[in-house]
Amino acid sequence: MGPTTSGERTPQGGRFDVTRTLQEVAGIASTCTKCRLSAGRTQVVFGVGDPSADLMFIGEGPGFHEDRQGIPFVGAAGQLLTKLLGEIGIARDTVYICNVVMCRPPGNRDPLPDEIEACSPYLMEQVALVHPRVVVTLGNFATRVILDRPVSISRVRGEAFTWNGRTVIPTFHPAAVLHGGGEAGRQMELIRRDFATLKELLAQPAPIVEEQLGLF
Ligand code: URA
Repeated sequence: MGPTTSGERTPQGGRFDVTRTLQEVAGIASTCTKCRLSAGRTQVVFGVGDPSADLMFIGEGPGFHEDRQGIPFVGAAGQLLTKLLGEIGIARDTVYICNVVMCRPPGNRDPLPDEIEACSPYLMEQVALVHPRVVVTLGNFATRVILDRPVSISRVRGEAFTWNGRTVIPTFHPAAVLHGGGEAGRQMELIRRDFATLKELLAQPAPIVEEQLGLF
């Protein structure tokens, strides 16, 4: 039997085979020098969490604390993410959390298009390997990379999109929610609404795919 393939596309337009493990990919990524961000990083911040999670979060890129600790979403934005998950009864270690770029952009600037492109095979391979039912994109960058169009997060947040047989729910980046007034802000109310949608979605039974029915 040949390698199993997934819906996620390689940069050459092929499919990722899912024969490598996340640890193997993390090992390869740890010495990556494909873009200029490698020059300024303390370390590569690879995804963390349950390697077969139903739910995956994709952020933008590591900040100061993530770069130091080598773990995504450990700073203030990460604490909000963990809190919002707790509010819908989900423990952080049962989901998978990663970023569009795995090295910290200097001064926390936005990642540039060529940096996103260089890192995208690592992201897509993580999606293929974890194989989540639901992907939550946090903010503009992750949403644009996954939906592959220049959408604005404020227009698409809370909507459910189908992508490679998965459900994608875009929502605000937790850092934007904190900057937008935190608990007192309108964005907090909306992100809570999106997390409630998420909870409902995950409570639904997983769709039975043809492969599982033995049709292939
Ligand atoms: N913001 C992100 O987008 N990712 C992190 O890991 C931390 C903050």
